[in-house]
Amino acid sequence: MAINPDVPIDITYLDQEWLLPHQVRLGLLRLDQIHPVISGNKWFKLKENVQLARSQQLETLLTFGGAHSNHLVATAAAAQAYGFNSIGMVRGLHAAARPTATLQHCAELGMQLVYLSREQYRQKEDPAWLQSLGDQFGPAYIIPEGGQNEPGRAGAGQIAGYLPPDCTHVALAVGSGTTFAGLRSALDPDIHMTGFTVMKGGSYLEDQMRPYLPEARHNRHLVTGYHFGGFARHTPELITFMNDFYRRHHIPLDFVYNAKMMAGLLDLIRLHQFPARSHIIALHTGGLQGNHSISPLLEWTS
Ligand SMILES: *Cc1c(COP(=O)(O)O)cnc(C)c1O
Repeated sequence: MAINPDVPIDITYLDQEWLLPHQVRLGLLRLDQIHPVISGNKWFKLKENVQLARSQQLETLLTFGGAHSNHLVATAAAAQAYGFNSIGMVRGLHAAARPTATLQHCAELGMQLVYLSREQYRQKEDPAWLQSLGDQFGPAYIIPEGGQNEPGRAGAGQIAGYLPPDCTHVALAVGSGTTFAGLRSALDPDIHMTGFTVMKGGSYLEDQMRPYLPEARHNRHLVTGYHFGGFARHTPELITFMNDFYRRHHIPLDFVYNAKMMAGLLDLIRLHQFPARSHIIALHTGGLQGNHSISPLLEWTS
């Protein structure tokens, strides 16, 4: 399926009685609807990289990720859609024996998977090692794990163009911080950004993102308390939240990112953390393919 980034992206407003007394409007920017696999922010982080690979006349995209990585499968799908070969360097040798649904999907999309020990994988930013990959696998355009590079941030900044002009707040889930930093740089400084980190101890991301954040724009903060046990972990409470949310709004959320963001955001609204008349846009960044591993717990099939 081709990707047409020029199609309008819907905003679904939550019509929820309890929002009324808080006098806020809350809409979800449905980046999840861009493409079933290259969904959400992953497409924005990839699009400038794909252009660069093409302009450098490289025929292969090579990238990195764990066995459940949305970025890996998005890269595989984008490579297929745009006529590139793809190579995925997978963290952990154990994954080779029992490939996850995500890795199987990558392979079906034509991605060559290379399994690395955790020690090998740690070299993923070492220029000499990356050079040696070129010798081993042929010339390739290398995209860092999670699309964490300048073109990735620039692409993420383009999400700003899909926000309504009177939006006052943006909320989003934060993994590597690439989307947050790219969007913060591109967004009107008057719009406040709240990032919900999805791993334990997410405050380290503040330091990680700082080099990429314009100093004058402090209109942002990270919320670190809604990790529900840690990265890619879940609790019964989170699953109940996801099922309730689906029943009420018919919007599926992924358990790794968007469910945590949305649970946190609704909590903060309840706790009066947003001023009256706020117009909040939450980014639905997709990632629904990740729900495969918990599908028996969910009341819907995606
Ligand atoms: C990767 C991902 C994120 C986090 O994006 P970063 O740019 O790494 O912070 C959020 N939501 C979904 C669904 C993702 O797959």
